[in-house]
Amino acid sequence: MTVYNLGSINIDMVYRVPHLPKPGETLAAEGFSQGLGGKGANMSVAAARGAAHVRHIGAVGPDGRWAADRLLEYGIDTTHIATSVEATGHAVIYVDDAAENVIVLWPGANGIIDENQIGTALSEASPGDILMMQNETSGQVLAARMAQDLGVRVVYAAAPFDVDAVQAVLPFVDMLVMNEVEAAQLEGALGVKIPDLNVDDVIVTLGANGCRWYQNSTKLETAFGAIDVDPVDTTGAGDTFTGYVIAGLDRGMPMAQAIGLATQAAALMVTRLGAADVIPDLKDIQDMKL
Ligand code: ATP
Repeated sequence: MTVYNLGSINIDMVYRVPHLPKPGETLAAEGFSQGLGGKGANMSVAAARGAAHVRHIGAVGPDGRWAADRLLEYGIDTTHIATSVEATGHAVIYVDDAAENVIVLWPGANGIIDENQIGTALSEASPGDILMMQNETSGQVLAARMAQDLGVRVVYAAAPFDVDAVQAVLPFVDMLVMNEVEAAQLEGALGVKIPDLNVDDVIVTLGANGCRWYQNSTKLETAFGAIDVDPVDTTGAGDTFTGYVIAGLDRGMPMAQAIGLATQAAALMVTRLGAADVIPDLKDIQDMKL
């Protein structure tokens, strides 16, 4: 089976600064690093490390082919990552000595993914495949609609939360994954409680408290505890979790088992500093002594 991911690819540019800049201030940074980021890229890496066959659908600018090449190194099929005239999506991140940060995001190429490209990529999909998406690219409704017509299961991570985007895509979604904050935003904006949403499966992640799985057709709710670890950096925990649930489902695991695998992967992830490049693989999970 194949996991298609219509997903963002960002370049994260991290500047270490003595303090967060004030309006009008020019500030010299004390350090700089650049890496692969974006929820879409993180989820592709997580699913691939969970042994799924992943095809990423997305776009980078001429300045970002290295980011696509990095995905290729992780074993991800990058045939459907286009080179756009727009700059690669990027996040400019300032981090001060107290670890406070300010982030400015520019969607760039992620925001103008060619609809024909999405159609071409998904025309290769067949029933049993999975389409995953987050809310950092254009083309979500088109992709979800097409996937559903093809009998492909649609998994949507409603992050970053945007009510209009969620409302537009929800009728075509089979499985929704959100964190606690996004779930509260969705309930507030739509005036609907999670168990009453017209989506088969909803997972709400609860950080160190694990997650809840809502099976809305049968009204069953199941709680899963997290694994007790000493967190070092929670960046990418949610993306790792979602990518691994999908990898588990792709390998034919029942949902509860896929959530169990994802819980292990995400727990290991929070013990590591960094994002895409430190997402654990199956061997790391097997070896983990938690
Ligand atoms: P982020 O935005 O930091 O990537 P998120 O807010 O999308 O994460 P969370 O709910 O914080 O998602 O975490 C996702 C999953 O990661 C949780 O369901 C849990 O399994 C695991 N996790 C997160 N934090 C911890 C922790 N401190 N200890 C153990 N597991 C954790």
